[in-house]
Amino acid sequence: MSLGEFSLIEKYFSALGASRADVLLGVGDDAAQVAVSLPQTLVMAIDTMVEGVHFPVNTSPSDVGYKLLAVNLSDMAAMGAAPCWFTLALTLPHSDEAWLSSFASGMTELAIEHDIQLIGGDTTKGPMVLSLQAHGLVMPERCLTRSGAKLGDDIYVTGTLGDAALGLKVALGDCKYPESTYLLSRLNRPTPRVELGKAISSWANSAIDISDGLLADLGHICRKSGVGAQIQLESLPLSSAYLRADVGYNMALCGGDDYELCFTASVQYRETILSLSEQYDCPVSCIGKVTSGDAIECIHFGERYQVSRQGYQHFAEP
Ligand code: ADP
Ligand code: MG
Repeated sequence: MSLGEFSLIEKYFSALGASRADVLLGVGDDAAQVAVSLPQTLVMAIDTMVEGVHFPVNTSPSDVGYKLLAVNLSDMAAMGAAPCWFTLALTLPHSDEAWLSSFASGMTELAIEHDIQLIGGDTTKGPMVLSLQAHGLVMPERCLTRSGAKLGDDIYVTGTLGDAALGLKVALGDCKYPESTYLLSRLNRPTPRVELGKAISSWANSAIDISDGLLADLGHICRKSGVGAQIQLESLPLSSAYLRADVGYNMALCGGDDYELCFTASVQYRETILSLSEQYDCPVSCIGKVTSGDAIECIHFGERYQVSRQGYQHFAEP
């Protein structure tokens, strides 16, 4: 059965996620209203997913719902912010109850886990385009940015790199790899590193989440901070699935969709960072150093390594 716009919103989106005391008005009025206590500051991020561009057409709706929220939570994590509320703009070709129910359930799972509440949105008919805006809170002095990296900082990444890019090849039917279920799960259900992002915010000088590949995203930190970087390829965290796929380093360096954090911190905090990794049960690897200059240099056991391609860019010139 096909639901109308208002019944659809009421049934699937009027009470999605956490139920927070600071929401004064949620879904159902002309706008939402939330209570914000000073001196905290508001952090906002929006990400759009287009069917066929950001996820293959055959992706399960529950994975689509999960990922749409996860990628925005990952932006909150990269700012060191605590996620609180989100809004959701859906353009859908038709109102398909099975799709909506599965989409909402995937999103709910992650929203509850991170204590974030859906407070409003917009629903329209058209080719599938899904936008989600997350809102979070951070103390002003703890907000992490791309522009704070300092010469000599250690460079860290969370989790493992390149798994989602291999997962995409599996999803598209381009390649068969061992542990393909694991690789697909890294593509469809990335882990936003929210707790670690908050924890490192007192110690890190800069941070970004890796959506377009390590080199592309570390490149943003370098440009914004006016520094270069040297990374040691033998220190890159690679999963057993990645190693078994035997694809060299390029996917880990340039593959998108991992949603791990890349951050820099002064060498004096190395022990602290590694103890936070244990405390929050989030793998963290030191992969290199911030250098003078403006380039990212890759070193493999003392030798320079040439990388064959950069990260993904919409509207990239051929
Ligand atoms: P308006 O016309 O005033 O923009 P709408 O009719 O678009 O209001 O939406 C009615 C209510 O439902 C609003 O509170 C809006 O925030 C909410 N809403 C609409 N679509 C969604 C959605 N996909 N998810 C959550 N809330 C939604
Ligand atoms: Mg509206």
